[in-house]
Amino acid sequence: MSKRLDWIDEEIAQLKEKGFYNQIRTLSSPQGAWLVVDGKRVLNFCSNNYLGLANHPKMVEAAQNALQKYGVGPGAVRTIAGTMDIHLELEKRLAKFKGVEDCITFQSGFSANIATIPCLVDKNDAILSDELNHASIIDGCRLSGAKILVFKHADAADLERVYLENKDKYRRFLTITDGVFSMDGDLAPLDKIYEITSKYDLMLMVDDAHGEGVVGKGGRGIVDHFNLHGKVDVEVGTMSKAFGVVGGMVAGSAKIIQWLRQRGRPFLFSSAVPPADVAACLAAVDLLESSTELVDRLWDNGNYFKSEMQKLGFDTGESQTPITPVMLGDAKLAREFSRELFENGVFAMALGFPTVPLGKARIRVMISAAHSKEDLDLSLAAFEKVGKKLGVIS
Ligand SMILES: *Cc1c(COP(=O)(O)O)cnc(C)c1O
Repeated sequence: MSKRLDWIDEEIAQLKEKGFYNQIRTLSSPQGAWLVVDGKRVLNFCSNNYLGLANHPKMVEAAQNALQKYGVGPGAVRTIAGTMDIHLELEKRLAKFKGVEDCITFQSGFSANIATIPCLVDKNDAILSDELNHASIIDGCRLSGAKILVFKHADAADLERVYLENKDKYRRFLTITDGVFSMDGDLAPLDKIYEITSKYDLMLMVDDAHGEGVVGKGGRGIVDHFNLHGKVDVEVGTMSKAFGVVGGMVAGSAKIIQWLRQRGRPFLFSSAVPPADVAACLAAVDLLESSTELVDRLWDNGNYFKSEMQKLGFDTGESQTPITPVMLGDAKLAREFSRELFENGVFAMALGFPTVPLGKARIRVMISAAHSKEDLDLSLAAFEKVGKKLGVIS
């Protein structure tokens, strides 16, 4: 008997022992306020479908029309088979929506990061990276070969310290931060970070995956929120969260976007998002440009849920967005809480170490514009019941 793959059994056993093994639940319904999960109808507080667009009738209709016109697949990578007009239209519309010169789209936010970072820096350079940056930023940084210098979370003074300690050792510097940090729902202090990067003329990139369609005027993102138009070199976004579809984008100056079209490897060597998905993304831009109703409802829902949870005695952390962490501390308690909520018809994720720091386990409640007031009240009642049963509130 061969033993060459036995190491995987050992690794998996270790994951299970430490409680890090992912058990994935099966959905048999579209994304929305309610889901059918493992056969049970539950209220959904797990997805990033902030505006309820994942199953919005206008989005579905746009995708169906594009399916008829363009078929299901893009055929090849855009630089070889040619690029469909609909991809170019989306990029033009996104650039206008974001108020930038140009935009390029990718297959996902993940590939946008691993495309962009190696185009901007290499082994002669250094990256100044927030300690809580997303995994796809970290992988993009590693792929670039640049030295990764970490600064304290959301701390512009520490960014300056790290830069000054290293400024003579590298050729170019690129500062990268998440826009919205999805574990706590806090914002990067992009205005203060920009003060530092502009003082020393360093490149600045923000990954606004959780801010796109959520923060800023009508969901125009974190650069708009801080009124830093034209000052942040690269804005990465995703269309898999508030936009409700799939795909990544990079918005910025014409110069940078032109460079990414020449050198971004996932653009050059991987096929584009299918045309039906692109059409749905265009419908999302239409909806966002036509009204702020969905974005406003998302924030109203978030504010209502947070304040009612606080009245019940829960600690909702430091969130500045509709993402609501319910701080519980102990990872086992958080898992138990999540299980009890599910029994009571509420699907909300427990997050523990190493996803969040040790002793900071929580339930993360993802609020959506798709939730009605009645949905929120049902979930508040479930939180109250489980919180009392497990002794979290009195
Ligand atoms: C979700 C997320 C991504 C990945 O986006 P996808 O489009 O799902 O690949 C990248 N960066 C951040 C900060 C994210 O939160």
